[in-house]
Amino acid sequence: MPHATAPLDLVTSVATGELGIVDLTFTLSPDFPVIVLPPELGQAAAIRIEEISHYDSRGPAAYWNNVSFSEHAGTHFDAPIHWFTGRDLPSNSVETMPVEHMIAPACVIDCSQSAQADADFLLTVSAVETWEAQHGAIPPRCWVFLRTDWSKRTGRDYANLRDDGAHTPGPDASVIRWLVEQRDVLGFGTETIGTDAGQAGHFQPPYPAHHYLHGAGRYGLQCLCNLDKLPAKGATIIAAPLKIRNGSGSPLRVLALVSKCSSAD
Ligand code: MN
Repeated sequence: MPHATAPLDLVTSVATGELGIVDLTFTLSPDFPVIVLPPELGQAAAIRIEEISHYDSRGPAAYWNNVSFSEHAGTHFDAPIHWFTGRDLPSNSVETMPVEHMIAPACVIDCSQSAQADADFLLTVSAVETWEAQHGAIPPRCWVFLRTDWSKRTGRDYANLRDDGAHTPGPDASVIRWLVEQRDVLGFGTETIGTDAGQAGHFQPPYPAHHYLHGAGRYGLQCLCNLDKLPAKGATIIAAPLKIRNGSGSPLRVLALVSKCSSAD
């Protein structure tokens, strides 16, 4: 058997700066917007951080907090069990999913200009084919990240809620089905508050990213940031959700390993 040197190479490459690490994670705080669903549905709880002690009478030696939030708070991971289409799949929760799926390459599709021009911008098959003409086909078992620069928005502009719901970019139904069936993607990631577009409740099927990804045992990542610091191809993503019992998702730290030698495309 060949000697397994890769983990040591990884550590060395990070130490020498040959390999950069980009943090794709927002700070988890009560200020971060939480998804709002129609009022007749159950709602995600607010993100709370409460001090237990702060080197004071409650604990002279220690600073620590109680935190509480939904499984889908801040930068977070969606597991197949999150959607009805994935409810009966094996190993479909963050508890049971294969750890091998927590490290995977990413393809980043830059739609930032389109999303700036149109908050309801939708990624299509033809847009991905245009990307592939430049960068080559999306390899199997990759993350596909939709770069919109939405993570640069702050306050109300981030959730972009209007009377008729959220207006944020995302994939159309055809492209997400195509990515799963024709490109065998591991998952799909966005900078917005969900993997689906803000208006995707009106799509057929409703919330197609959730429908097709989770129905095929694939994953979602959302509320990512710093996608503009990634190459179109060549980043390796580390996304290991918390091991919550039968969990449908979790906030997590998402890191991208990027070779300093790799070009921007
Ligand atoms: Mn989610």
